Amino acid sequence: MTKKRVYEVARELGVSSKEVLGALEELGMAGLRAVSTLSEEDAQVLREFFRERAAPVVEAPPEPPPAPPKPKGQPRPPVVAVLGHIDHGKTTLLDTIRKTRVAAGEAGGITQSIGAYQATFHGRAITFIDTPGHRAFTAMRARGAQITDIAVLVVAADDGVMAQTLEAIDHIKAAGVPMIVAINKMDKPGANKDRVVQDLAKLGFAPEEWGGSTIMVPLSALTGQGVDDLLEMILLVADMEGISGDPEGELEAMVIESSLDPSRGPVATVIVKNGTLRERDAIVVGSAYGRIRALLDHRGERLPAAPPGTPAVVLGLSAVPPAGERVERVSDPNEARRIAEERVRAEVEARRAVRAPRTFEDLLQAAQAKKLVVVLKAATAGGLEAARHELGNLKADGVELEILHAGIGPVTESDVLLASAEQDMQPLVVGYAVRVEGKAARLAEVRGVPVRTYDIIYDLALDVERALKRLLGPELREVKVGEAEVLKTFDIDGVGRVAGCTVRSGRVVRGARVRAYRDGKEVFVGEIASLKRFADDVREVQAGRECGIRVRDWNEVQPGDTLEIYTVEEVPV
Ligand code: GDP
Repeated sequence: MTKKRVYEVARELGVSSKEVLGALEELGMAGLRAVSTLSEEDAQVLREFFRERAAPVVEAPPEPPPAPPKPKGQPRPPVVAVLGHIDHGKTTLLDTIRKTRVAAGEAGGITQSIGAYQATFHGRAITFIDTPGHRAFTAMRARGAQITDIAVLVVAADDGVMAQTLEAIDHIKAAGVPMIVAINKMDKPGANKDRVVQDLAKLGFAPEEWGGSTIMVPLSALTGQGVDDLLEMILLVADMEGISGDPEGELEAMVIESSLDPSRGPVATVIVKNGTLRERDAIVVGSAYGRIRALLDHRGERLPAAPPGTPAVVLGLSAVPPAGERVERVSDPNEARRIAEERVRAEVEARRAVRAPRTFEDLLQAAQAKKLVVVLKAATAGGLEAARHELGNLKADGVELEILHAGIGPVTESDVLLASAEQDMQPLVVGYAVRVEGKAARLAEVRGVPVRTYDIIYDLALDVERALKRLLGPELREVKVGEAEVLKTFDIDGVGRVAGCTVRSGRVVRGARVRAYRDGKEVFVGEIASLKRFADDVREVQAGRECGIRVRDWNEVQPGDTLEIYTVEEVPV
């Protein structure tokens, strides 16, 4: 007896897999998934169920329920990225889908590569980002924008899980987007699907047949066999995730690719995730701005409006914005220009800014707990394990260490990107007995990501430990600079109590810290608010001299009190 998968029955019944899963739950078969297999009997029960449901209702129609509040969003095309090891078939898969699924009538037309295209399956659109690979994926994410809704991980069945497969998985995990595995090259004689499944299961991605939740679709990007199943799964995941957008809502759109065209000027492909982008809109994209002269689709045709889930080429910007930059709509082009110029100015100033001297409070704030994220590379599997083990032994209270990715080979651009995408944490890329690729080094400089390589594991671990400690905040040390004795006090209107002192030893420095003692007991700790000699404000007063000291927020100072003056310094790590 033939077994059918849930989504196949759904297709046969002309309903979505989600509806079939709902029906199965009503029929007491909860917990199934779209790729689960059904016996012929169960499939039959389902057919009955849907037939009954479709039967005309004889009794009087019930009162129409009150209209539900208009939902804010509605399903929109999911945005899909394809990742995986080199030569496993990412480009072939994207090409095959483009050839077979880009709306009829377009075939034969000149499709231009704009960085994304929209395929249609079962009358629904899916947007594919057609720059394959995790570098592009993470480059977009590095600017804080999450463009991709679903990641497709391509693994060749004749090759299995390889280094870049692992890397891609780490990138997908870091992005937190759902993943579908495409087990490719099933047409090849050497294809071994089970090995891929086992490898992935070992990494914690068990397929549904094994009780796991990872969707895996065997296919051949070359022959096209199984590609429809993949599209089906993409739509299913999109439904499950409730991927939606509101065409009337606030604009949320990001750049995925950009270039300078000799005749058209700056060209940027953007994907709209919410709201609608229209021709003539005034926009700001990072430090670029302009009024949209034209919006084009991937066939180079005019697109007056781009609703949620749509990729579009934008013409009319003042400069080429980088991938991952957000598109913001403003009221008019002058406003756009003002904002963009303001940003350029702020950027220049930030670069010039000299670090202001830090106050004690700044130092204390720096001691707040944070997280150190590390990308670790090593020349061999053994070296990687040893380094990972060493890092696992490191501890620093209050600071967390997370190995974002560990892989074999030189430090690449992709490693730097991955590290720099974690914006709120301190990134660090370390290599054990490996080199740093030139591009990676340049990117690290631009992004401000520290990259270090070591020939000795011990040194590597020591440096990571130092970085952890640095995150803990600097170790602070009090340095005593002098001592003063209070001779008299004066209460001054609007100012507070001033202590007339003689400096017994060292010196008194304006802005320094004070610890006050009375009869040998500490009575107050604070800061010198003002320091005067006769009527003049002074910076410091040496031993043997007299001065007036006002301690901030303390009006209880008395003659006979001893004031210990000290400063707080960082202990270098
Ligand atoms: P990418 O590096 O992941 O983008 O891989 P490509 O798409 O460039 O594919 C690498 C090679 O594998 C090419 O020679 C493709 O023709 C071949 N290839 C890709 N998919 C399949 C497939 O499903 N079956 C077979 N037999 N070859 C494939």
